[in-house]
Amino acid sequence: MTEPNAHFVAVIGAGPAGLFGARELANQGNQVVLFNRDIKPGGLAEYGIYPEKYTMKEGLRKQFNQILDNPNITYYGNVEIGTHGDLSLDDLRGLGFQAILVTAGAQGTKRLGLPGEDLSGVYHAKDVVYFYNKLPPFSQRKFSFGRRSAIIGAGNVMVDIARFLIRDIKVDEVISVVRRGPGEVNFTKEEMKHIVANLDVNAFEAELRRVLPALQAVSQGSDIGRQKVLDSLSKADPKFSDTRFRFEFLTSPIQMLGEKGMLTQMEVEDNVLVLKDGALKARGTGNKRMLQVDSVIFAIGDQVDASFGLPVEANEFVKNPAPRFPVDGRSYEAYDPASSSLIPDIFMGGWSRQASDGLVGLARKDGTNASKAVSQFLQGLPAAQADLAAVASRLKGLPKPVITKDEIRKLEAVEISEAEKRGLPEFKFGSNEEMLQAIGLAAAVS
Ligand SMILES: Cc1cc2nc3c(=O)[nH]c(=O)nc-3n(C[C@H](O)[C@H](O)[C@H](O)COP(=O)(O)OP(=O)(O)OC[C@H]3O[C@@H](n4cnc5c(N)ncnc54)[C@H](O)[C@@H]3O)c2cc1C
Repeated sequence: MTEPNAHFVAVIGAGPAGLFGARELANQGNQVVLFNRDIKPGGLAEYGIYPEKYTMKEGLRKQFNQILDNPNITYYGNVEIGTHGDLSLDDLRGLGFQAILVTAGAQGTKRLGLPGEDLSGVYHAKDVVYFYNKLPPFSQRKFSFGRRSAIIGAGNVMVDIARFLIRDIKVDEVISVVRRGPGEVNFTKEEMKHIVANLDVNAFEAELRRVLPALQAVSQGSDIGRQKVLDSLSKADPKFSDTRFRFEFLTSPIQMLGEKGMLTQMEVEDNVLVLKDGALKARGTGNKRMLQVDSVIFAIGDQVDASFGLPVEANEFVKNPAPRFPVDGRSYEAYDPASSSLIPDIFMGGWSRQASDGLVGLARKDGTNASKAVSQFLQGLPAAQADLAAVASRLKGLPKPVITKDEIRKLEAVEISEAEKRGLPEFKFGSNEEMLQAIGLAAAVS
């Protein structure tokens, strides 16, 4: 129930950070409105985590549903907030929200600015991940992976995308292009086990021999890297295709080349490792060569949406360097460096605070911490009567349907029954039109 000293708070984004942040604020008796760009809640827990992790995804959906059951939380899906969104931050202030928690994830694309990045066949990881997880409109876009794909990066997202290319697309070859050495790869063996059966072990050993002199130059051998990859062999998933998976270590992309707008090859440069500020960094040797590939996918992390309406620096929303309400020593407060002043009513959490940082558990903790900072801010404000009717009426004026909790439940029930009918572990509609039709908010989709 809303407490007499309650406040009125907007949370933007219903991924793990926003949902757990909203729960914390609602449990304190505040009236919380959760605005979400996607129809369904969950963010990357729904549309990022690999589709076949059914049990994990189901468990998270249950927790998210419980949160939405909280009577102090109002959910509005299919509503984008921001400068180019359905409502701006100022619109929210105008509706009486006393604080705004931004947990919109990291929706921008980190570009290296290389020639050829706009060719067809060159993609950024999030787009591909959203595509195979059926998030509209990405689910409706055409992707052309060809027969040979390079993935730039060496983390768990690289492994997820390789898994999709190996199992679903069944390309001939997937090459993981790794800027640093085999000792610096960042994936876990729990993820690598899903693709290691497709590793060309001879090519892997040859690659370790090729880069050995560069590793020895920084007093490394190849054993750590060999272990990081081959440790997963004992638990390897069965082979799903004949795709050859291999690594190119100490290699950076230089440019993508194409014909008639389509990628045909990628120029790369060999690197060595150098110790700088106590960390091993890659440095180009000037030796360049070509990789014949039909698609390149950059899995190098994301950045926040620079057009959202908050100041951005170095891929992230700028945080107040001297926070009024630090939590665990961190700043959750928005800041405008142009005027050297804080934006008092705006806070951020999860991947909106630190882009591409960690797993769901961390996003949950960060969203909760962010809401603790919001609570401390609210303590200094008078209680306010939430005008939920004004918010509902404003949203009703939008030229598209806005999705409520009840409609989310309806959609979920239709998808569960559809999965049962088709004998599938899970079923998801791949377009907004189909989802809206399933909950009776749109005409039948032809
Ligand atoms: C490919 C991939 C695989 C992963 N696999 C795993 C895994 O196996 N296990 C694990 O624990 N973690 C995994 N993660 C990490 C996990 O998904 C993230 O840690 C977590 O989802 C981040 O939560 P968040 O709430 O900060 O952001 P997000 O999950 O990105 O949620 C952001 C939400 O904000 C909404 N939004 C965006 N912009 C706006 C706007 N302008 N207005 C309104 N709403 C907006 C979106 O619709 C979305 O619902 C994976 C991540 C990726 C990318």
